[in-house]
Amino acid sequence: MSLRVCLFCARRLDDRAKEHVIPMWLQQHLGITEDQLALVVAETETNRISDRRRLALDQHLEGRICASCNNGWMSTLESETAPLLKSLLSREKDISSLDLRHRLLLARWAAKTAFMMNSASAFDRRVPPEHFKELYRSPKRLPEGVFVLGQQHRHSEGFNIFQFPGWDLVGLAVPESRAVDDALGTAYKVGFQLGALLVVVGFFAVRPYILYLRHGVHVCLWPLLPRIRWREQAGVDFPWEHSLAGLVDFVKDVGLSLENANLS
Ligand SMILES: [Zn+2]
Repeated sequence: MSLRVCLFCARRLDDRAKEHVIPMWLQQHLGITEDQLALVVAETETNRISDRRRLALDQHLEGRICASCNNGWMSTLESETAPLLKSLLSREKDISSLDLRHRLLLARWAAKTAFMMNSASAFDRRVPPEHFKELYRSPKRLPEGVFVLGQQHRHSEGFNIFQFPGWDLVGLAVPESRAVDDALGTAYKVGFQLGALLVVVGFFAVRPYILYLRHGVHVCLWPLLPRIRWREQAGVDFPWEHSLAGLVDFVKDVGLSLENANLS
């Protein structure tokens, strides 16, 4: 008999209902309860988008969350983040204007949501179990090596998820590095679009890294004091009015510069 435990606190699970990966209040707020979810799967080996499955949102569930987590810290995080999310979704508030407290709150909410999306998906690159536990244990930060980026756009769709295994790595001190190869084996980027909001939660084990981002497109929410190098991309337009194309670019265009990384 397999022992089923909570993804976050590792308590033993009793038989109980599954939890919605996208909280019901948010599905209702966005009017996407009946929507079909596009699960876009890219192959780790080739970075090719191999599969787009559709699933009704109310079937997008995760069963490995205990009642104590669900009714405790996750519910608190959800209710604390809700007013901020609503003002971002309506574009009353600009995501690049958030104070530190709101950046931490939104980053933790995004990580919690992205981790559940990853665990409920068929994607072959898993968020490591320690990241779930660290998010549960440390209410004032995110797991080491994790970053969260956000943006708002004029959305054409309610909701999309896009997880992508490929990384644009620049500034490598050593072209052939075992540490980088190992890091590429555990790195992840989980992107999602909810209404106007675009989010990517990513992780890379080799540090310190410098985020290699698109100016005017990526807004860094976490870490609070990020190191960023901006891409030179004159003439490359971002699809501001197309949700899926926007999400795909938003996730694919996150690179890293490893010029200061410890590669030993
Ligand atoms: Zn739990």
